[in-house]
Amino acid sequence: MSTISESELLAQIPSQLFINGKWLDATAGKTVDVQDPATGAVIKTIADASPADGMKALDAAVAAQDAWAATAPRVRAEILRKAFERVIELKNEFALLMTLEMGKPLAESLGEVAYGAEFLRWFSEEAVRINGRYGINPEGTGRTIVTQMPVGPSYMITPWNFPLAMATRKIAPALAAGCTVVVKPATLTPLTTLFFAKILQEVGLPDGVVNVFTTTSTAAVSDPIILDQRLRKLSFTGSTGVGQSLMKLATENMLRTSMELGGNAPFVVFEDADLDKAVDGVMLAKFRNIGQACTAANRIIVHESVAEEFAARVTERVKAMKVGRGTEEGVTIGPLIDEKAVAKASELVADAVAKGATVATGGHAIAGAGTFYEPTVLTGVTPGANILTEEIFGPVLSITTFATEEEGIRIANDTEYGLIGYVFTEDLKRGQRLIEKLQTGMMGLNVGVISNASAPFGGVKMSGIGREGGAEGIHEYLSTKYTMTPNP
Ligand code: NAD
Repeated sequence: MSTISESELLAQIPSQLFINGKWLDATAGKTVDVQDPATGAVIKTIADASPADGMKALDAAVAAQDAWAATAPRVRAEILRKAFERVIELKNEFALLMTLEMGKPLAESLGEVAYGAEFLRWFSEEAVRINGRYGINPEGTGRTIVTQMPVGPSYMITPWNFPLAMATRKIAPALAAGCTVVVKPATLTPLTTLFFAKILQEVGLPDGVVNVFTTTSTAAVSDPIILDQRLRKLSFTGSTGVGQSLMKLATENMLRTSMELGGNAPFVVFEDADLDKAVDGVMLAKFRNIGQACTAANRIIVHESVAEEFAARVTERVKAMKVGRGTEEGVTIGPLIDEKAVAKASELVADAVAKGATVATGGHAIAGAGTFYEPTVLTGVTPGANILTEEIFGPVLSITTFATEEEGIRIANDTEYGLIGYVFTEDLKRGQRLIEKLQTGMMGLNVGVISNASAPFGGVKMSGIGREGGAEGIHEYLSTKYTMTPNP
């Protein structure tokens, strides 16, 4: 474990905009404070980009595009590989930084460093496997050459909940494909992306290939970038509402878009489930990242014959969780990101209780410094409770029951979202049926965490469009082109 102190680490983190390989103040001289959600203390003050800065970042990406696209794939691969190695060497620094700006327990931050870094290694390996094809047309009158071209300058907007992984999951495939990028991390957690930009510079990424800014004038800075015809791709991770409005804007400019949006994951426990596995699975699927994940189990749907035992076992585990600042030894639940998140959890719990649910443990915001909410279990949640239709984004586990497989599937699919579903059953055929019947882009079968750089992450319905990771991930940044030639 690194012995670096918080103040030593924060002193190393850039506080300026990263544009065309230079660290710059915002043109209007504006700054914004970044806070530790566990204490409310300001940990860093950074540049707050103006619309002119945003345009400068796009100019730099556009200027660097042709040269970057013309580099040998092996060169791009090696830069990504070096970045992977450097992030892993600095894993304790990246982890501490994420815990400071976002709040998650240090052990989870280390997990995110491993996951986030893996996109750099995975796409370093994909960069050299971009293939086309050559064929004789059916009439025998010509030859077709199909190639894959980089889509061009790309704009990436990332959320605060996974500060490293949401950035590398977009930046790595774009760079591998030969695209240059402008990245706008969330204003609540920009430090990890700025630190990562510093690493990219250190490992030899040419100027202008990656540009990073954050801003509090979000739409004023973002909209002109999205509407600029030199931009060719928008990749967004965040809430469905913001994704919808950005997608409308992107249609003006006919941009390629990837939208990784909200979720309302069902976690279905059948009567034939291995309850040990299901309890372990739900603890991860619900409480990882303090419940603030798009993949978080939002609705725990348990067969009525095992619901009581399941709830009792989960409640015992939840009571043993330790709430505190993520840097403290043994803490499993850190703060929520801000006051709004605490208010949302409080409102959802109050509404569920008013509609008949029982609080088995927790159920309150924690007074004092920082934005903490007790890890909570609700049982007997009734249809109509808002907690069943809205993303909770907090450490609140809500249990409902079902009687038959058909009913379980119907309840699981009864949402506008379709990111992920979790299913616990020891019956192989039932598991196979659920793979086909759950309306989601991803499924965890007897596991509570599914994220992996080698797998295509993404949703259906209101959870979005496109896939990140896997062999599919690089195609989000490639455009297919064919050329017809005469017979030789
Ligand atoms: P958010 O939509 O509020 O913000 C996401 C990003 O968009 C931030 O960088 C924010 O500054 C920016 N933004 C907001 N309004 C904008 C505008 N008008 N123009 C340009 N940028 C704008 O979401 P959040 O609260 O940061 O993140 C939580 C949400 O993200 C949840 O809904 C969660 O499910 C979702 N999420 C999805 C995935 C996924 O892969 N599907 C992963 C993580 C988080």
